Amino acid sequence: MLNVLASPFRHQPNSRAVSDVERAERLIDPGFGRVFTDHMAVVRWSEGQGWHDPSITAREPLTMDPSAAVLHYAQEIFEGLKAYRLPDGKLALFRADANARRFRESARRLAMPELPEELFIESCRALATVDREWMPTVEGGSLYLRPFMIASEAFLGVKPSAEYLYMVIASSVGAYWRGPARAVSIWASREYARAAAGGTGAAKCGGNYAASLVAQAEAIRQGCDQVVFLDAAERRWVEELGGMNIFFVFDDGSIQTPPLTGTILPGITRDSLITLARGMGLTVREELYAIDQWRADAESGRLTETFACGTAAVVTPIGTVAEAQGRFTIGGGVPGPVTTRLRDALVAIQRGTAVGPDGWMQPIA
Ligand SMILES: *Cc1c(COP(=O)(O)O)cnc(C)c1O
Repeated sequence: MLNVLASPFRHQPNSRAVSDVERAERLIDPGFGRVFTDHMAVVRWSEGQGWHDPSITAREPLTMDPSAAVLHYAQEIFEGLKAYRLPDGKLALFRADANARRFRESARRLAMPELPEELFIESCRALATVDREWMPTVEGGSLYLRPFMIASEAFLGVKPSAEYLYMVIASSVGAYWRGPARAVSIWASREYARAAAGGTGAAKCGGNYAASLVAQAEAIRQGCDQVVFLDAAERRWVEELGGMNIFFVFDDGSIQTPPLTGTILPGITRDSLITLARGMGLTVREELYAIDQWRADAESGRLTETFACGTAAVVTPIGTVAEAQGRFTIGGGVPGPVTTRLRDALVAIQRGTAVGPDGWMQPIA
């Protein structure tokens, strides 16, 4: 048994770590997902041994057999969470326990072994601590942690793999969108669906993303920033974006988001915003919303704002929706006050300038 209280992660420092000067250079304008730290966390799983050999080692390319199951049948899941720097200089993880739980749920859906939640949290804590110098100092910067698990058995038969590799890599990130906050445009795909009932829509797996890319490419061709998916059965109910959940704000001050029916990814940002909104006294409904109603409400003024949310970009205002029947604009096409208020409230908690609900911020180093 692993004793996860005394960190089980063996640490082998990277002997070719990036110099201070080079790191400072890379952190000037890190963007999103391009600047990586010196180390990675690794834990292996095999049928005989279960979870074993947890380590923090130099970040380096993987060596894999070309028949490894993940390369053929996409047995893969991942997570995304951030470490933030608090005003006192300490680092803290935001709701890592919720990511740990969701990672187990994704594993179950993909017929993979469930990583103990303490080991998930410890892998994130250990990596962020070792690579803490990679925390950007730019406004809005954070250390984005990407835990993931792949089926590594060398075998072309179709069955759950007998071996897995769990890893965490870290990326120094600035603000997701460049420039000042602006409302994005989204394309409502009627042709492609992201997830169907009984499928993997509620699991955070790479396959869902692979299936969404053609619709995202279509969105770009239509002059939009992102795609929003409708339900697979009726192509009527608004579900979510390729990688973000969606919220609607009404003129009576209430807000609404699609319910977690199994085809939508249960976002931790979504859950956090529901909690914060209720704490502000706003009415929050988790109910289906039809695209035609969305257009009608935007045109009548009953709908005043729409925004998307997720760990990477936190809150993204949506200003325009384009679909086969034409475009419509929401709230003048600029970020609205409820969107901004909710975003500011969440960001203040993550930056440690406001106190959030118990346990949301977990100081680590
Ligand atoms: C990760 C993800 C989200 C957002 O989840 P958060 O926990 O808020 O980051 C939303 N939709 C999809 C499809 C996702 O993969």
